[in-house]
Amino acid sequence: LPEQEAFNIEYWLLEEAKLQRMPRAKSLAGRVALITGGAGGIGSAIAARLIQEGANVVLADIDQASLDQRVADFGKVFGKDVVRGVKMDVTREDTVIASFQETARAFGGIDIVVNNAGISSAAAVEDTTLDLWNHNISILATGYFLVAREGYRLMKTQGNGGSIVFIGSKNGVSASAGASAYCTAKAAELHLARCMALEGAPFGIRINSVNPDAVLRGSKIWQGEWRQQRAASNKIAEDDLEEFYRKRSLLQRSVFPEDIAEAVYFFASDLSAKSTGNFLNVDAGNVVSFTR
Ligand code: NAD
Repeated sequence: LPEQEAFNIEYWLLEEAKLQRMPRAKSLAGRVALITGGAGGIGSAIAARLIQEGANVVLADIDQASLDQRVADFGKVFGKDVVRGVKMDVTREDTVIASFQETARAFGGIDIVVNNAGISSAAAVEDTTLDLWNHNISILATGYFLVAREGYRLMKTQGNGGSIVFIGSKNGVSASAGASAYCTAKAAELHLARCMALEGAPFGIRINSVNPDAVLRGSKIWQGEWRQQRAASNKIAEDDLEEFYRKRSLLQRSVFPEDIAEAVYFFASDLSAKSTGNFLNVDAGNVVSFTR
């Protein structure tokens, strides 16, 4: 759209005619994405969305059994050629580097990195051991750094730009009691994304963050201790958690993995070509409602 025209009717008539003549092209055709935590709830939804738009996807995860299952599932739905699985521990530099080498070998390069692998842990500060603190920082802050750095290095060498999307958390934006190590690590991620955006801009490498609030469905995080702790601290039954989060939200809606996937698709694709260093809360309005 010419910059000087606020609304150019000829442009829109032409675009509309084009759309009506041809089927919509897949917007990520020919692009390659690596998704950490790709065998998990949110990671799988992101993978499906990007594959649907034509991307080739590498799922990187520490959990080999879930990874094998997911790769088989995706192969059945979308075809075997578009998806690979690679075992990666985001806290181990050697496995992170090897995973990017494997991605480049399999699909010829990298265009999109989704920094998503994660855990969650709840403990009051006075009960947080140094081990628990370090566990959170090593996966959610150091792990995100290692993955983002390797993706960035590869994109810079290729010279075609790229998009790195961090999955942060509502808890990295607003304070939350009883999970300080997790919240601090999530806040660190967000700041890393912003700092990297400054360095990446001259090379067309964009870095943005999507921050979910509670996504219970499909998430392994919500199957274990975290679920019990959240139910106990809110004084409700575990089965009532989803309804509790829905009612707490400003929009009175639950957030699902597919909602996160849609926001990631926006940042991964050219739809967000003019966004970097930004974040988008997918939280049904929780962050803003907490400031009321
Ligand atoms: P999930 O447990 O379903 O998926 C996380 C995946 O990360 C798992 O497959 C797990 O095996 C993998 N993983 C864990 N440690 C790893 C490591 N060291 N190296 C590589 N892979 C590792 O959880 P999810 O809900 O899909 O969470 C995905 C991301 O979303 C996390 O970063 C989480 O903090 C964030 N998040 C989730 C919620 C939520 O309510 N589910 C809310 C806010 C933010």
